[in-house]
Formats: sequence, C-alpha cells, structure tokens
Amino acid sequence: MAQPGRLGAGSPAQNGAVSAAGPPYSNGPVQNPLKHSQVSVSQGYSSPFPGSYPHQIPAKTPLDPSSGPCNYGGSQTVSSLNSYQGPGQTLNRLPLEPNPVAPLQSTIPIPRMPPPPSSQTPAAVPASSDSFLYGPDPSPSSNWQYGHLPVRSKTNNFVPVSTQPSLSGNTNLSRNNQCVSFGAPSLQNNYMKTGSVPPPTNQPLPTIYQPIQAPLGSPPVRSLDPQKKTSNSVPSQPQLNSAVNQEGGISAANNDSVGESSYDTIEGGGFMAPQLTNQNPKMNRNVGYSYPSLPPGYQNTSPNMSGRPSTTLQYTSGLQPFSQSPLGANHLTTSMGGLSLHSEGLRVINLLQERNMLPTIPLKAPVPNLHEDIQKLNCNPELFRCTLTNIPQTQALLNKAKLPLGLLLHPFKDLVQLPVVTSSTIVRCRSCRTYINPFVSFLDQRRWKCNLCYRVNDVPEEFMYNPVTRVYGDPLRRPEVQNATIEFMAPSEYMLRPPQPPVYLFVFDVSHNAVETGYLNSVCQSLLDNLDSLPGNTRTKIGFITFDSTIHFYSLQEGLSQPQMLIVSDIEDVFIPMPENLLVNLNENKELIQDLLKTLPQMFTKSLETQSALGPALQSAFKLMSPTGGRISVFQTQLPSVGVGALKSREEPNQRSSAKEIHLTPSTDFYKKLALDCSGQQVAVDLFLLSGQYSDLASLGCISRYSAGSVYYYPSYHQQHNPVQVEKLQKELKRYLTRKIGFEAVMRIRCTKGLSIHTFHGNFFVRSTDLLSLPNVNPDAGYAVQMSVEENLTDIQVVSFQSALLYTSSKGERRIRVHTMCLPVVSTLNEVYLGADVQAISGLLANMAVDRSITASLSDARDALVNAIIDSLSAYRTSVLSSQQPGLLVPFSLRLFPLFVLALLKQKSFQTGTAARLDERIFAMCQVKNQPLVYLMLMTHPNLYRVDNLSDEGALNINDKTIPQPPILQLSVEKLSRDGAFLMDAGTIMMLWVGKNCGQNFLSQVLGVPNYASLPLNMTHLPDLDTAESSRIGSFISWLREHRPFFPILYIIRDESPMKAAFLQYMVEDRTESALSYYEFLLHVQQQVNK
Ligand SMILES: [Zn+2]
Repeated sequence: MAQPGRLGAGSPAQNGAVSAAGPPYSNGPVQNPLKHSQVSVSQGYSSPFPGSYPHQIPAKTPLDPSSGPCNYGGSQTVSSLNSYQGPGQTLNRLPLEPNPVAPLQSTIPIPRMPPPPSSQTPAAVPASSDSFLYGPDPSPSSNWQYGHLPVRSKTNNFVPVSTQPSLSGNTNLSRNNQCVSFGAPSLQNNYMKTGSVPPPTNQPLPTIYQPIQAPLGSPPVRSLDPQKKTSNSVPSQPQLNSAVNQEGGISAANNDSVGESSYDTIEGGGFMAPQLTNQNPKMNRNVGYSYPSLPPGYQNTSPNMSGRPSTTLQYTSGLQPFSQSPLGANHLTTSMGGLSLHSEGLRVINLLQERNMLPTIPLKAPVPNLHEDIQKLNCNPELFRCTLTNIPQTQALLNKAKLPLGLLLHPFKDLVQLPVVTSSTIVRCRSCRTYINPFVSFLDQRRWKCNLCYRVNDVPEEFMYNPVTRVYGDPLRRPEVQNATIEFMAPSEYMLRPPQPPVYLFVFDVSHNAVETGYLNSVCQSLLDNLDSLPGNTRTKIGFITFDSTIHFYSLQEGLSQPQMLIVSDIEDVFIPMPENLLVNLNENKELIQDLLKTLPQMFTKSLETQSALGPALQSAFKLMSPTGGRISVFQTQLPSVGVGALKSREEPNQRSSAKEIHLTPSTDFYKKLALDCSGQQVAVDLFLLSGQYSDLASLGCISRYSAGSVYYYPSYHQQHNPVQVEKLQKELKRYLTRKIGFEAVMRIRCTKGLSIHTFHGNFFVRSTDLLSLPNVNPDAGYAVQMSVEENLTDIQVVSFQSALLYTSSKGERRIRVHTMCLPVVSTLNEVYLGADVQAISGLLANMAVDRSITASLSDARDALVNAIIDSLSAYRTSVLSSQQPGLLVPFSLRLFPLFVLALLKQKSFQTGTAARLDERIFAMCQVKNQPLVYLMLMTHPNLYRVDNLSDEGALNINDKTIPQPPILQLSVEKLSRDGAFLMDAGTIMMLWVGKNCGQNFLSQVLGVPNYASLPLNMTHLPDLDTAESSRIGSFISWLREHRPFFPILYIIRDESPMKAAFLQYMVEDRTESALSYYEFLLHVQQQVNK
C-alpha cells in the first residue's frame, strides 16, 4: 500500500537499493505542499547522493562513510561497552534460602510457582564481558548491552551517568548519609521515615479499611497447625471505613515510639531478610482458630461464592489438599492462547508494503498472555509495565531476541481509585519482604507462598478477617489480595523518626539579570495565589532565601511587623543567621509571608549586582533544611559566577548541530556532591532555570537529578517580551505547588528470584544496591530499570514484579504504595517477540541512549538506537522466520519500532543538524529520564489530529462534557490538507496548523476571525466563543492538557507563522535537511537486516 514515493528518478523500491552510487532514495512524502515559505525544509525528493544529508541516521554501516561532515567512521565500534552501564547498578543480593520454613507436604495441585531450584545456581550469566553483549555476536557492532555487567562491589551506588572518574571518590554512600546510622552493617539504610501523601486536590476518596482491633503482630515464625485448636475467640472485627478523607481523615494507629530499625528492616531488603523476620517479638500469636470448627463466615469461602473463582480457596477441614487453582499452568492458556484472540498479533508484517501501521487510537500496552482471572487483577500498565510481556526463560533467549528487558514505572501517579488499608499487620514475606499481593498462592487457609522467593509464610490472624465482606476466614477477598495497586498506612515500625513536617524553602536569584526578566512577579504572585493549597497541615513550614553575589535571609519571626532581611556577604564560608526564624510555620505567620511575597519583586529593582552566587546559596539552603528535610525550589536565571559551584560558559555556537564533542557532562561535581548531601538529609532540590543564555544545565541539573528533584526550563523568559513563557511558568507553577508530594521516601523494586535488576533510570540516588532514595516524590516522575535473567526460569510459568514506595505524606502519615505486576514466562523466541511492548522498549532505549550520549557520544547513542532495530529484526528474520521472503519483516508487536526509533533520532535529545541549543538538548534529556512513559512517547512521536470537523462520534463523556476523539494521523505532511485544521499534541507543546483554504465555519466559529488573512501570526489562545465548534475543540484541548506535568502552550500556526518550522520538525515520517524520511529509513534498515 505504501507508495514508495513519487519521484526518485526511477528509484528502485526494492531491497538494498540504497547505495552511494545513484539517487537511491525513493522517498516517502516530503514536506512539499507546505513549503512555500519554508526554506529550511528540503525540497528534493531524490538527492543526488547521500552526502546531501550530512547527518543522516548513522547506521551500523554508514551509507557512505566518506560523505558529509558528520564523522561516523569508527562509531560502529562502541568502544565503551563496559562503561555504559554505570557500575553501581548491579545488584548483589544474597542468595535466597530455598524454603526457610519447611513447606508442608501438600498434595495440592501446586500453586502457581514451582519450588526454587535446589541448587544455588550462581548467575546464569557468565562473567565474561562478551556474554553481556547484545547477543551471541560479540563483534564491535553490537551496541546495547542488555544484560548486566559482572557483579560489582556494592559500594558503587551510582546511577550510570555518575560514573565519571572525577566523581568516583564520592560513591560511597555512607559518607553522605550520616544522618542516622545505627543498625547492623547489612542494614545500610538508616532511614527516618515518616510519610504520607498530600491530599490530592481532585482525587476521589479511596476506601480505607481500618481494623479497629488490636494489632496481632507480625506473623509467627512457626506455622500454625490448622487442626490445633487454641482458641475460639475471633478477633474483633475491623471496621470498613469508606474513608472520608484518604489522606488524613483516619490516622494510623501508631504509637509514638520510634523504632530503632533501619530501612532494610522496615521496608525490607531483598533476599536477605531471614534474620529480620520478627519485628515484634512480643507479639507471638496467642490466638488461633480451629478450622474444623469454622466460624459461620467460613462457609462463604466456597469457590462459587468467591469473586475470584479460579483462585479460590476451598476450605475443607484439616490438611486436606486445597484446590486453589494455581496461577501457573492452569492459568496460562496454551502458549499462544491469549494472542490467538487477536490473530492480528500473530501477523508478520512487511513494513515496506504496509507503511501505515499507526493505529488511529492511542496505542495501548499489550495485554499479557495470562488467564483472564489473573490478568484482570494485574497492575495497570500506566503505572508499571515491562518491555517484554512474555519474559524469556533464560538470558540466552533474551540475548537472542536482542531486545532490552526492563520495567517502566510511574509509581506515584495521581489515581482515581486507590484502596488504602489501615492495618496493624502488613503482611509480607518473611524472606524477601515482598508485600502480599494478588499473585501469591495460598496453600491452605493458614499459609501463603511468596510469588517472588517461594517461601511459605503464615497468614496472620488478622488477615483472616475481610473488612470488605466482613467475613472471617476469607483471606482471598482481602483488598491486599484483590488489588495489584494498594496503599498501606504504615504502622510505627515503618518510622525511624516522627514523620517530618512539610517544609518548603524557596531560593530566588535576584541579580540584575534576574530582575530584568521580571520573573519574581510571576513566581511571587503564584505563591500568593496558591499558598493555601500547598500540600501540608498545621505543621507546614516555609522560608525564603534570595541571592546575587551575597545571600539574603528573611526572618519571619512572630511579632515582627514586617519581614526582616539579613544579608550574609561571606560566601566562602556560609553560615545561617538566626536559623530558628528563617523557616516558620505557614499558618501562624501567613501575614508576614504574604507581606514578603508582595514586596519581594520590588526590592531589587534597582540592583546592579550582576554576579550570581548560586553555589553558596544552595549550601545555605541545605544547612537550613538539614534538620528536617523537605523541598528546596531554586530559581536561577544565569550561569553561576562566584563562590563554589561557579561555572564557565562551554557552549560553542558552531558545535550546536554537531553530534560530536558537545558538553553533555557536568563540568564540576559540586552540584552532584551537594545533591548527595541533600539526599542524605531528606532534602530534594527542584531547579527552575529561566535563562536566555547558556547556563550549563548539564552541571546545574545534577542538583535535582541526585536529590530526586525536578527540572523546569524556560528559555528566554521575559515578563513583557515573552508572554507565552510567562503563562507556561504560571500554569506549571500552579501544578508544581499544589500537586501531591511525598517526603523522605524510598523505593524498592523486587522481582521473582532468577531475575535481576541492574540499572536504574530517573532522578534519585541509589543506596544499598537497590534502594532508591527519594527525598521527595511527586506524581509526575517516571522511572525505568533494566533487568537480566540471572537464573534460568525453566519450569516457572509466571514471574512477578513489585515496587514499594514508602513515603511521608504532607499530612504526616507514613504510607506505603505497592504495585505488583505478573507476567508469563516463555521458552521460544517467537513468543518473546509476540509479547514485545514497543512503547516500553522505545522508552527504555531512550533512557539508555541518554546515558550513552553522556558516557560515550551522541553519535554512539544514535548508532546504538538504529542498531537496536537492526539487531532485533535480524534476529527475528534468521531465528523465527522460516522462509526468507523479501521485504522488511517484523512481528506485529514491533511494527512501530522503526518509526519510534526514527522519532527518537529526530527528537531534541538526539537530533543532529539543527540549531538545538545545548541547554535545550540537556533539558530534553532530563525529560527523557524523568517523564512517565506516556509523556516521553508523546514528546517523541506526537499525536496529530484533524480538528476542523470534530464530531461527537466515539466521543468520551466526562463530567457531562463531551470530549471528541478524532483519529490519530500519521506524522507526515501528506496527511495535511489545505482545507483543514490540524492539531499536533507533542506533550509539552501543542500546535494548531490552519490550512489556507480552511473552511469559513472553522475560522469564524472556532478562531473568531472572518477570514484566513486576519488570522494573527502569533496566536496562542483559542478565543472563548459561544459556539458548538468552539466548545468541542476547547474541551478536547483541555482534556489533553489535564494532569500534564508540563503545560503545553497552544500555538496557532498559519503558513507565515514563525512556529511553522517547529511544526514541520515533528513530521517524523518526512525527510528534512538532515534526517531521513521514514521510508528511506526503512530501506536502510532492511538493507542492514538482510545482509
Ligand atoms: Zn518472598
């Protein structure tokens, strides 16, 4: 169906036609139709020689290595395979003891998980570095290393980028985290936790299950003999509260005692916790129940009464076999069963013939091939997804597939429904500390088997009561076993200090340059507007620091008639004047705070001080925040110039477009070191960079990256001259100031024994090998991890992954949010391909490519992206397809893989040949690393809609509003027409292109202009018109914008608009001066694959 292009001077559309000799490219659509005023877009359909695209996709084999200025010679060999994956990421867990508690002999049809292999197989992957290459081919052309590196020392706790030698001295965490250090050596996470989530402003109320009964303590070490009757007393019944207030309405029944345990004892380490089991030694169970004499409620447990038939316990008496059907074999349909429902999924596609594979509705995550009863309990893919929904049984199989194995997480996403459990006993595996979840198996009514390490655990007494059904003896109906996403109110054992109060410190650049931009007006006004919506409670504290070449503190002491400014001019050795009055209670001092915010914008208008002492200001902020922890929001408008952390400009304009030797790495480790100090004291730093000049975001960004902060960037911000940026800042500040926040958080990801997590992506610091330290966590942050198969998963039908995020809410509650995902294990390459999740793969590759850009070079990263396609499709062709048909053959699951990789190559992070400013590129990379997958995909491959003819067909109805759902179009000017209007949603930016012959109706009813000629060139808002058309498109755009971390400005574009070039940049399928069209790219890939 794909027309290989209109011109191409007789260009051969067949395989391998690309050569340096002739006009090789038969193009896809080119941006001709729109081109009148667009000089920068290439005109030619057929270029005389490949060299005319000097920055074409670097390929495994360059199209013509000698052509063009871009040097990819030599880049085929990715020299630093070993340096790419940052050393510290390798997990080094203690071996798991097979079954610390002897499992009862049961004749049961064994629940889902087979017993662990009897031998402690060391990592299945040999330590030779070759074996960690992409696949069996250790040749230099392999670019990604999907496996893990040989196990390294635990002390390397750095995320990959941190591997610069200059920073190595700092890698020992313990140095930086001195705040609490007691506990056994193995328990390095001396954490104080507190925590809970600020009330989401727009969240529906979750249900809280709150048992009123006294805690029963942790599970006894010895499993109860069900036949042994010890007591007839039934614990008093927990109450089911449909909570009035999921955040703070109901407080956990904590006592105030602060346990002297470390995070590992609390949240739990990996497979190393046998000695940690009994947290509550005095709580030995003294009540027991005799199953033969069941309380009335027990009868409810027969399968037909259960909402979960296939996993129901049948409570017969005694030790008779239980008939819980396993999650394993019985739950997996025959190997292709799930997919056969969608026979489309089994199709092999020739991309050269079927180019239009983009679905018209948003692409959904593949559904794992599990029995529907299991799948319906599985975690929402928006929160937790895997690049391969069919997990390869062995590392060898994974290597063969040449696809990356990893997880993408959005763990703190705002949720419409979130079950919250208040329970004195949080049921966890005594070996690996996994939280009980829907994918464990119950051996009988008293014992459950961990789905991660296979240990058999006791079901604690309290768990026998189901607060939902108010029935006793029905553990399978407990919310913990019915929900893959759940939140626990953590009892006091989960705290090492009383939960910290919400503390917010704002640090403002007030140098001449900063005052010139006028940003203080916006920021102070936003703060004034949202002061009452800051997440918090009566304990909330707030403070302010300003700086230029000196540092200014503001005393907000009660009783003062106005704020008092204290200037510290010694920036070499900063100290905090009267620290007790600088961070004050928000409620008690609101008037003084408001006074300060009102006067601040005017205070420095006469300042001629041009210097910027950002480093010392941050040091002061750190000192001020250290005792409590909290959030520092720093606003910076230029390159810091004096004191520690001063930077020099490194941007050379001529290098902007080059793929080599640009400064992506920090020029100093000051910001990273300070961030680690902050992390150790539970302080996160968010950076707002508002600067028209180069400000070395590569260095400054480290302050947020390692302290788990966020980065915002507003190039050329100016209060008067750039109203669009002003609006963007205001909108994003509102979201920033009012969104949920979790304090003093840690996150751990566990997976079934045999799998191993080895590399982490996102903003955090990795401590104790796999514990992510997140001084702050917010709902807009995404994370990714890479995994390998360390021990063969032979005979295992399913594996599970669980993330646990322990945090303190803004209401001062300690909470744990747990997500669990279950996936099938497969043994053939074909199945691995069938289950590939192309969005997750692209997202993970993007994260890996950022690392590669930094540790090697941009061109290496680009090569590696292209090779990721070539290698996997080559493997598919040679190992799965039996006949060697012509064309570019891909499994249905990967039909969009080349398109998404091409889109990545054209994305700001990785593109070449454009005038992308260095800071903008770095910011794009920050977003790749920190954005949830859905937004990462949107900024890479935007959605294009035709919007001049919106109808209600297929529309959504939300809160009585009709939200049209127009079909998604391919990103090619071929899809545009001059008589229409098209909306491009690129996540952080939106553009509405209006064609010259656009209908009169749209112009007047939506745009409010009488004709095309009167359409302004710089329009950034749709007028609010009282017409059906206007409200349709208005509600569609607001719906798209909802909940976005970054507010997408809407640019309305006509042919003469300055933004038109940006619009065309996103036309991923078209050729530009410096990049191939999609069709050319496919031809290139095909040539390499079929070699
Ligand atoms: Zn376990």
